[in-house]
Amino acid sequence: MIDLHCHSYFSDGVLSPEALLAKAVTAGVCVLALTDHDTIDGLRRLHAAGCHQSIQLIDGIELSVRWKKYDIHVIGLGITPNDANLTDLIAIQTERRIARALQIGECLAHFGVQNAYQKACDIAGHDRVGRPHFAQVLMHEGLVADMKTAFKRFLGDKQRAYVSTSWISLADAVHGIVQAGGRAVIAHPLKYKLTRTKLHELIKDFKHAGGVGLEVVSGEMVDTDVHEMADLCLRFDLLASSGSDYHGDRLSRVALGRQKRLPVHCTPIW
Ligand code: MN
Ligand code: MN
Ligand code: MN
Repeated sequence: MIDLHCHSYFSDGVLSPEALLAKAVTAGVCVLALTDHDTIDGLRRLHAAGCHQSIQLIDGIELSVRWKKYDIHVIGLGITPNDANLTDLIAIQTERRIARALQIGECLAHFGVQNAYQKACDIAGHDRVGRPHFAQVLMHEGLVADMKTAFKRFLGDKQRAYVSTSWISLADAVHGIVQAGGRAVIAHPLKYKLTRTKLHELIKDFKHAGGVGLEVVSGEMVDTDVHEMADLCLRFDLLASSGSDYHGDRLSRVALGRQKRLPVHCTPIW
């Protein structure tokens, strides 16, 4: 089993890199990529913990990008973590992420949640917080019952506490990953709720920039969607990736390495 998409507490996951590795080994994962949002901070500790294990570790990242009016996630696999250009991109993203988080915090104050940014940072253990952290704050404050409702009513696209962010462009993200020696993959292609025409347009722009992979299996999916994504790989000559997008037992429905298998006619990216 391979798992090329998961998160540690260096972004919005619950577990440490060490705990993640232990879980992967127990689950029988043989190739693991840690792909924290806009940070490589967990990679060194994952390697340190994994050096005596037989599991293959791939250095990864999940970059948020702006494509047209959509927020898209691009995964980089096999990157050189300390690449200078990638480091610059990460610095830009971090600055924008914190600025966005401060704005979300101010916005949530209007709904009676005081110091939401600080509370989100306390949950995360760092200051580069994202929307899942705010969703947890909203749950703790009793405004919503679960993560899904937090996004649906407050944090999701066009909702009351949604803050539009000027993430780096799709092309900049893909170039950054490729220059750092990695392969770029479109993460969870069905999560953006794009029309099929728009999704094809995204894939064409992504390929034009140098992207090579599509996440055919991502977290919880129905078989028909998996097969449709596999067909897109064939049609657009893309390599297939697969990941659980695991964030921790209480946040994810699919456990590490427990996502569906890639259809046999796909060419796996790893
Ligand atoms: Mn996440
Ligand atoms: Mn994502
Ligand atoms: Mn993810």
